[in-house]
Amino acid sequence: MALRNIVTVDTDRTSVLRKKTRIVEKFDERLKELAADMIETMHEANGVGLAAPQVGILRRMFVMNVDPEEGDLVIINPEIIDPEGADVAYEGCLSVPQMYGQVKRPTRLKLKYQDLQGEVQEIEAEGLKARCICHETDHINGIMFTDKIIGELIHESKLIEDEAKRDPKSSEQDLKPDSVEIIEEN
Ligand SMILES: [Zn+2]
Repeated sequence: MALRNIVTVDTDRTSVLRKKTRIVEKFDERLKELAADMIETMHEANGVGLAAPQVGILRRMFVMNVDPEEGDLVIINPEIIDPEGADVAYEGCLSVPQMYGQVKRPTRLKLKYQDLQGEVQEIEAEGLKARCICHETDHINGIMFTDKIIGELIHESKLIEDEAKRDPKSSEQDLKPDSVEIIEEN
């Protein structure tokens, strides 16, 4: 396993974040290696999700770890089905370091995808997990959360300050980009 470099908006490789991605068709050792690298890179960066274009790979795939009990999930060729409801909350992104903005997302959805063996899976998700799935699926369609924000993009120091005013128990360790739900988490 190896750490991959995360493409951020302040580098000249940003265009990779806007490109079309290809469907994954070969479920081979290389794909497993990429998935393992992406998981390692996501954890190293303290994120809860990471999409392939963020490490410069134009494939329809992402990894996430929203629920520690469930652990790491590798999502290949995702398809969001039956999104329901709407919720506005702060999100961050490993490709937009230290910046956060409010985005409207469905509160629950179903996700059809393929696992690393190529088997079709379907899961239901709500709350932060649904938000993360939408954020990462956007990435593989070349869409950034900054395209969708309501109001301003704000720096994390400001967010921490505002959050501390609202809830003195919260601290910096709550910030987990890609994507993050600060207001309701914990
Ligand atoms: Zn992101």
